[in-house]
Amino acid sequence: MNNKNIWVFCEQRDGVIQDVALELLGVASELAKTTNEKVCALLLGSKIKKQAKELIAYGADQVLVVDHKNLETFVTEPYAQAVTQLAKQYEPSIILFGATSIGRDLAPRLSARLKTGLTADCTKLEADENGNLFMTRPAFGGNLFATIICPDHRPQMSTVRPGVMKKMERDGKRKGEIIECEINFDQSKFAVSVIEEVKACSNVAKIEDAKILVSCGRGIKDITPAFEVAGKLKGTVSASRALVDAGVTAHDRQVGQTGKTVRPDAYLAFGISGAIQHLAGMEESEFIVAVNTDKNAPIFKIANLGIVSDAAAVLKQLNKIIENKPC
Ligand SMILES: Cc1cc2nc3c(=O)[nH]c(=O)nc-3n(C[C@H](O)[C@H](O)[C@H](O)COP(=O)(O)OP(=O)(O)OC[C@H]3O[C@@H](n4cnc5c(N)ncnc54)[C@H](O)[C@@H]3O)c2cc1C
Repeated sequence: MNNKNIWVFCEQRDGVIQDVALELLGVASELAKTTNEKVCALLLGSKIKKQAKELIAYGADQVLVVDHKNLETFVTEPYAQAVTQLAKQYEPSIILFGATSIGRDLAPRLSARLKTGLTADCTKLEADENGNLFMTRPAFGGNLFATIICPDHRPQMSTVRPGVMKKMERDGKRKGEIIECEINFDQSKFAVSVIEEVKACSNVAKIEDAKILVSCGRGIKDITPAFEVAGKLKGTVSASRALVDAGVTAHDRQVGQTGKTVRPDAYLAFGISGAIQHLAGMEESEFIVAVNTDKNAPIFKIANLGIVSDAAAVLKQLNKIIENKPC
């Protein structure tokens, strides 16, 4: 197989490059050090050319740009046609996508068209010197991690959820090549067109952007004090799936394998046991404080500071301590 180079599908929405694209460029740059290949960013959209330099600053050696009005809003078919044509022309070794609604829609379509495999929701990516990709993801309900390889087909493809990988430091001096590509679209296959775009409104703060998360689990009966503490610390409230399933709070606040991946400076876990599916979404936090009545709770294994106590009582105490000392 002569396939070469690591591609990152760089998702943009309304012309704004999504963080997950920069995170994927970060991991692609790490992989490229081992495989000795180039990192190539795929930038598709309409009037998006000027973003190409930004992708170079975050690790791309080469940017393939397709700037076309058919790609203004994401629709599966035109995007799938564009990436398929490019992949057949350039024969990449690896293609990475964000496990977002767009990446989860596009990547399987491409893997079928390119007759290769796809590993979804990877939490770790490693490579060997021969360019083989080792894609690790949770399996069997998250109770173990499986490392998957795709030895017989190229490109090797995987999706990675936002927040899992780390971006490189932005370096505006990095040099790279920008190639503008033409696509022969087959409009007869465009079965779907966008008539109107209506954006959903959410008043839930984005937990993935918060520096401090006050996170509640089943060990908390009333989450109101958590909101008070979070407000005073200029953070926000997140939760385990147990609380979301119980209808106590919205799914937007759920941390974990089927929720969001977070990496705050401080993650304060109140009454959360630390199931593997929860840890998958928060174990990269800078500093973890756990409060639990059970001294054997698994969350204590990854906590920097553990408090064996009633979570509601600690929240109350914390509220009092910071009452007169808001940040
Ligand atoms: C495929 C799959 C995907 C999943 N995805 C997710 C996910 O994305 N996110 C997620 O969170 N879970 C997920 N889960 C569920 C996960 O397995 C756990 O069931 C869930 O995380 C448990 O939430 P919890 O820790 O709040 O509740 P529990 O496991 O019930 O733990 C409650 C904890 O509170 C402690 N406690 C009780 N009373 C008090 C008190 N007064 N003070 C202090 N501590 C107290 C207990 O000792 C216990 O440790 C998933 C499961 C599966 C199978």
